[in-house]
This record gives sequence, C-alpha cells and structure tokens, in this order.
Amino acid sequence: MRTFAIHTFGCQMNEHDSEKIAFLLKEKGLLPLEEGRPDLFIINSCAVREKSVQKLYALLGRTRKWAEKGTVVGVVGCVAQLEREKLLRHFPHLRFVIGPGSYPSLTSILDRVLQGERVVETRWEGKWWETSGALRRRPAVAYVNIMEGCDKFCTYCVVPFTRGRERYRPLPWILDEVKRAVDQGYREVQLLGQNVDSWRWEKYRFWHLLDKVRKIPGLKWVRFITSHPRDFTREIVEIMAEGEPITPYVHLPLQAGSDKILRLMRRGYTQKEFLQKVEMIREKVNNSSIGTDIIVGFPYEEEEDFRQTLQVVKKVKFDNMYSFHYSPRPFSYAAREFPDNVPKEVKRRRLLELQSLQAEIQLKKNRTFVGKTVEVLTTGRSVKDPQAFMGRDITYRVVNFSCRRNPIGEVLKIKILEAGPHSLKGEVVDEG
Ligand code: SAH
Ligand code: SF4
Repeated sequence: MRTFAIHTFGCQMNEHDSEKIAFLLKEKGLLPLEEGRPDLFIINSCAVREKSVQKLYALLGRTRKWAEKGTVVGVVGCVAQLEREKLLRHFPHLRFVIGPGSYPSLTSILDRVLQGERVVETRWEGKWWETSGALRRRPAVAYVNIMEGCDKFCTYCVVPFTRGRERYRPLPWILDEVKRAVDQGYREVQLLGQNVDSWRWEKYRFWHLLDKVRKIPGLKWVRFITSHPRDFTREIVEIMAEGEPITPYVHLPLQAGSDKILRLMRRGYTQKEFLQKVEMIREKVNNSSIGTDIIVGFPYEEEEDFRQTLQVVKKVKFDNMYSFHYSPRPFSYAAREFPDNVPKEVKRRRLLELQSLQAEIQLKKNRTFVGKTVEVLTTGRSVKDPQAFMGRDITYRVVNFSCRRNPIGEVLKIKILEAGPHSLKGEVVDEG
C-alpha cells in the first residue's frame, strides 16, 4: 500500500484527528494523495446530527467502486463508535471501523489494517491520545487539542456517547505543541475541545493555560473552541481582557432562549445567566465578538419558547451563528424520553426566521467595519473567487481580498470596502 486519503466530516476536532491519523500513516510510509483513487481511503465520520450521518452513507455507497478496484476503505470517528459491526453489515466492502475510544492504540490497529485484517475497534481506553505530530492540512492556523470528551449529557446530544468522558491533555504537552507550531511558522493556534473551559491539569485551570499560551513568543493569535456558558468564568474573561495574542472571540452556544427548553435540554443555565455572561464579556473585553449555536424545534418548543430565542438573539446581537433544526440522536435522553413533536414544517419555518433575523444583525454589524483597516491572517484562497484570498480578522470575521502575490500565512492590513452578512471584502493597504 502506497497512498492514502482521508475525507473528514464534522467539527475542527475531527479535522484535527484526521491530521493526527495522516501523520501516523505517513510514519508508516504511506503518502497522502490529493486526487484520484488511493490505496487506503478513510472516512472520518460525524454523528452530531442526522444529516451528517446521511452524507456518510451516501459517500460510503460511492466508495464501493474504489473497493472493487482494490482500495481498502474504512470508517473512523463518531459514527464508527456508535454503529460498530452494523456498519460492516450494511457496507460489506468496508474493511475497518475504528472509534475515538480506541484511538490511543491506533498505531498498532492501523498495522493490522495494513496487513489486511478486517478490524472493528471501539473499546474505550479512557486515555489521552497523544501522537508525536500531526500532518496539518491548513496553512497559518494550527489546531491543538487540549481536552476531549464531554461529561455534560445535554439531552439532545450524542457527543458523550461518541467521545466518552472528559480527558485532559497535560499542560507541558500542550505548551510543547504550541511552541513547535510557532517554530514551524504557524501564526495562530486554536485550542480545541468539546468544553475547553473545563480543561484542568494538576492545580491548573483553563485560564492558567491561556495565560501560559499567550506568553509563548511568536504567536499572533490564540483562539479556543468551544466554550460552555456554565463553565465560562470571570477569570477567563480577565485573561481575554489582556488582549493579543488572545483574541476577543468566544464561541458560546446558547442553544435556546427559553428557560423551559434550556431545562429540558439540561444545559445548566437560564436565559438570565447566559445574558450575564455576555454582559461580563462585553464589559471587560475590547472589541469582543461572540458566536453561538442554536437548535430550533426541540421537543415541546412552542411558539412562545421560540420567540424567547429570537428575543435573546436580538438582544445579544451575536457576531456569528450556526443554527440547526433538532434531530433525535441515538442514546441521547431526549431521543429516548421525549417525542420529536415539533412538525418538520414548523422547524423549517423557525430556522428560516431565525437565520434571516441573524443575517440582518450580522449585516448591520459588518457594515460598521466599512472604511476601517483590520489585520487579517490569510488562510487560503477565497471560496467564491479563486483569484482572491481569504482570512479572518481578530474578531473571527471572514475577510476576502485580492492581492498580486500569494500572501497565504501572512498577516496583512486590509481596508474594508464592502460588507455582506457573512463576510467582509477589502483591499490590501500598501501592497507595494
Ligand atoms: N460542545 C459544544 C457543541 C457540540 S455539538 C456545546 O456544548 O455547545 C455542535 C452543535 O451541534 C451544538 O452546539 C448544537 O447546536 C448542535 N447539535 C447537537 N446535537 C444536536 C441535535 N440532536 N439536533 C440538532 N442540533 C444538534
Ligand atoms: Fe454535547 Fe452538551 Fe457536551 Fe456540548 S456540552 S458536547 S452539546 S453534551
């Protein structure tokens, strides 16, 4: 076997797991293949919503042809952890299914795969999965894991069942990796975890970690994803208030605005408590920017509950938002105990209403940037216009701009000329 490719669904955590898997494969002598049929094809799956599982099945169907020609096809990630042998039964051309529970032994499991064994491995090893590197796919921004798993058990969520209990990466290992990333030329690190604020190691808490990371020389920006409103503390805000390299961006999922729904979701905060956290951020952090996630159509969500969500959205004016309609997930409390009783049509209408309100808010906020000059870390080519480049500013806004040379990986000053709801457009100041 000479070449491999990995297709990744889902969050940054999955993307980074794929980078670690790619590193292990490269160490075993395989080369990444960008196009065409690889000898080994791995799909890193996401189980968080029904839609991503449907996409996995569709892709698996399409890989049958490759398998017939000799490609070894396998699934890793969250769906692998949940479905195990069931996946092999539904897709007989699959050669392996490996869940995050078994990643700590991935090096030896992959050897068995490469020797031709058919493998199902989803045993919970309960250890931190450390690799001696990652084959990073993105320029400029390095993902760095700090914790994994979740102990919160929100009633809609499958993550505690796919990622297991919380495990924390020891402080010295995190600092080492950040330093190495800086030495390799990365300007930004994103500290990753399902609940970054619950990270702990010995006597250290998350804010200590932020304080140590920000003192590493050479870093332009440090971000961290995702925070939980319950664990997001004043100490974290105080470190953020110190400014760069810590960015003023917080991803703080609201999920729902009504206390009734928040209780049914078992989120552990009320609308009022959420708003107090927002207030605390806005008060202390210059230029603060807040992103969120919202679910509409959770069981028993009535029109009045949904209005409460809209109210909070109007009040907070989030800088970005990911919004979803509720889908029941295996093993979750809500799927077992609550009826999925908001009709599809109603979910769809609520989602559209929420998204159009948010688009209006974002457009208004983004327009305040027109005429200003912001620093942008260039991360790649623009999605819409491959001649142009894109990056993000300190508030995590997407900025598109044209440039005569290739500035990927550089921080540039960009003057903002136009604003849309989802991105800004500008020109390089002093291109020379
Ligand atoms: N750890 C993070 C997010 C994990 S999942 C947190 O605590 O918020 C990412 C997002 O997917 C969630 O924030 C939620 O908005 C959405 N999500 C999770 N389960 C879902 C479900 N069953 N239906 C719809 N959206 C869901
Ligand atoms: Fe899922 Fe809740 Fe844990 Fe986030 S905090 S991963 S939403 S259970």
